[in-house]
Amino acid sequence: MTKRTSLFTAIFFLLSLIVGGQAAFAQTNAMAKAQKVTGDRFTFRASTPEGANVYGAKRPSAAMLEAIDKGLTDLFVVARKNGYRQKLNYSDYTVFIANADRQKSADGSYSPDIAVGAAQYAGTDYDQGGYIFAAGMVISNNPCSFVIAEHTKEFNRVSDVVRYEGEHLVLYHNDRRRYTATADHSKGGAHPILQ
Ligand SMILES: [Zn+2]
Repeated sequence: MTKRTSLFTAIFFLLSLIVGGQAAFAQTNAMAKAQKVTGDRFTFRASTPEGANVYGAKRPSAAMLEAIDKGLTDLFVVARKNGYRQKLNYSDYTVFIANADRQKSADGSYSPDIAVGAAQYAGTDYDQGGYIFAAGMVISNNPCSFVIAEHTKEFNRVSDVVRYEGEHLVLYHNDRRRYTATADHSKGGAHPILQ
């Protein structure tokens, strides 16, 4: 090995350390935010069969993992249909599965949701007195991560929530204008965004 090569090797090694370190740091930030938003600790790590990253407050069930893959598959299909190409790999996504703060919506139907601070929804119809119930919530745009509530049945709901939260992330990385126009539901708009 020449001196020149070893210098390149050293630089490459340093760069990998920096890039790897930043990725790990971003991942840690997403974890910290997910814990802060939900009050849960995500001690169970898993991967879906297709390779998405999952952290659960409880050990994620096989049905939850498969439902996450189904939601991402639906998301990628509709994203491609809209001409989007970025962040269409399962491994681009990290899903936090939180403990549900309620199991049923006001009308009594099965609807595991998480309670999150009302923030921009304060005073709107969503506001429950400082917090709102949400089926899912984006935790960070980069890395792509969001939180959903644990389900024990009706896993098609999980796939829908995954696809819906994923829409915000796909738009963030592919169509910033459309992302900005649709990110805040307190100003109206709902899912699905992508047709
Ligand atoms: Zn949304």
